[in-house]
Amino acid sequence: MGLLEGRKGLVVGVANDRSIAWGIAQAAAAEGAALAFTYQGEALLKRVTPLAESVGSRLVLPMDVTRDEDIEAAFRTLRESWEGLDFVVHAVAFANREDLSGPYLNVSRANFLQALDVSAYSFTALARAAAPLMEGRAGSLLTLTYLGAERALPNYNVMGVAKAALESSVRYLAADLGPRGIRVNAISAGPIKTLSAAAIPGFTLMLKNAEEKAPLKRNVEAAEVGRAALFLLSDLSSGVTGEILFVDSGYHIQGV
Ligand code: NAP
Repeated sequence: MGLLEGRKGLVVGVANDRSIAWGIAQAAAAEGAALAFTYQGEALLKRVTPLAESVGSRLVLPMDVTRDEDIEAAFRTLRESWEGLDFVVHAVAFANREDLSGPYLNVSRANFLQALDVSAYSFTALARAAAPLMEGRAGSLLTLTYLGAERALPNYNVMGVAKAALESSVRYLAADLGPRGIRVNAISAGPIKTLSAAAIPGFTLMLKNAEEKAPLKRNVEAAEVGRAALFLLSDLSSGVTGEILFVDSGYHIQGV
């Protein structure tokens, strides 16, 4: 029997087959989970639908995470389609391209708020919508973060500030939802070449640097994040909540 047999999960943040969310979705489906997906905009619907179908999912729902009405509608559909919900994967982030180079100092109020809204607040909004569907089940909420939350890395800028807020949200949500049996965790992934990552100038250098300096002397793949996610989504981690698990070939432990 698979680790997630009989479990139902919502995956937010598949843009294409290179997305980290897709690595997690494939791992979860292989362990027996039934999945629902979201997409933002018609162009992505065309890309997400065949991926969803390939893991037996027919639930592909529109959701811009900055729109409360989209979140409400998606969870209404989930409530009508499934008896309950066991896990949510949140793999969404956005910052304006102009803020992903040069000094962080220059970020405007509007761009700061947008980055924090899409990349951090959305996890709390999803958690609030998901919790009622998880009553009586061992729910698990999972988000994706990066080392730039705790260290000042070149060009990551406002995204690092957003990830710091996201990581703090993981701890506060874990404290709020723990009494209801719902666990909340994050994976801090090493650099992986995806659509979003390509927007960060010098990303190829980050990949090279990680390969040279990480203890494992290589970069990680989305499939490895997927396998670590299986731990956090399943009963294997029943005693773990509020945790940030690094899946980065050990890069974060290195000093000089
Ligand atoms: P990705 O494939 O480009 O996925 C990012 C997803 O966020 C896309 O599906 C994107 O949709 C979605 N998104 C952005 N704004 C949205 C909104 N308002 N509403 C709904 N969805 C929205 O990139 P990824 O690298 O897999 O990123 C997934 C997560 O992993 C992010 O949180 C990222 O910060 C994190 N992460 C990535 C790395 C890395 O090196 N790749 C490392 C550590 C952590 P659109 O394409 O429509 O905008």
